Amino acid sequence: MQNHRVIDGKAIAAQVRDGVTKDVERLKSAHGIVPGLVVVLVGEDPASKVYVKNKGEQTKATGMNSWEHRLSAETTEADLLALVGKLNADPAVNGILVQLPLPKHINAERVLNTIDPNKDVDGFHPVNVGRLWVGERTLVPCTPTGSVILAKSVQPNLSGMNAVVIGRSNIVGKPVSALLLRENCTVTIAHSRTRNIQSVVKGADLLIAAVGIPEMVRGDWIKPGAIVIDVGINRVPGENGKTKLVGDVNYEECARVASAITPVPGGVGPMTIACLLQNTVEAAKMQHAIKD
Ligand code: NAD
Repeated sequence: MQNHRVIDGKAIAAQVRDGVTKDVERLKSAHGIVPGLVVVLVGEDPASKVYVKNKGEQTKATGMNSWEHRLSAETTEADLLALVGKLNADPAVNGILVQLPLPKHINAERVLNTIDPNKDVDGFHPVNVGRLWVGERTLVPCTPTGSVILAKSVQPNLSGMNAVVIGRSNIVGKPVSALLLRENCTVTIAHSRTRNIQSVVKGADLLIAAVGIPEMVRGDWIKPGAIVIDVGINRVPGENGKTKLVGDVNYEECARVASAITPVPGGVGPMTIACLLQNTVEAAKMQHAIKD
């Protein structure tokens, strides 16, 4: 029996990118501005290299400028901070993203906090975290924004829903909770110390799972008819010695109970870069004091 809806992150991400492309055209024609994103990669992490390549290609596809700085793994923190300072001062650069993880000898927090908050397209700078919680215009972290767009694709008005977020990281759990509060949900944040998490999750009309434990959430945790957004990306052993990707939710079991659910892969994953592009346009607008 399949009466649940599978939320198609790929298709919705494509819609977001189309919106960005239109916005970029408008910024060019009405204001003569071409937004630009710089991605800085330090070292040779293979997964990071793939992400950076995808980000560059998708940025160019929307008509924006895209630049990459690839630095060796031996780059000093001082040199990286100097580069960030130069990019902060460059008016052609609207967004700066320093790809994580950074090599161990570099203090990632210090680097991220050096990025001009108005160019911080990851939305991790404490100034932007503060702006999000007080409800000011700001740059919001990408994966949380994407998760809320997916939930709203099912239920455009989330007001009054009981939302449970599993995870309290600065990258996903906390910012997605702030966004859901802004949507007028009643938000519960569950985490590694939560007692009887199963019964907490059972109260959720909307569940956001951002834990990093493969298939932790089981079918009998889910309230019938709930919307389930699975942020988790976990590599587990698959067939023929290969690895496969699974989420933090047991998809087969939860899909039987939920009204709508995101698959892994193809759910939240594709939304992250799409929202990064959206943030780059928003950063350009904020820097030029353009309202919409
Ligand atoms: P994290 O490790 O920083 O945080 C995990 C959170 O889960 C913590 O706050 C912790 O309290 C909570 N937790 C740990 N064990 C728990 C348990 N047994 N019960 C309840 N809560 C528990 O991870 P993160 O960066 O927030 O990422 C979470 C997941 O989302 C990972 O699988 C990651 O790969 C994925 N992710 C996906 C994207 C994307 O683009 N789709 C982006 C970022 C992260």
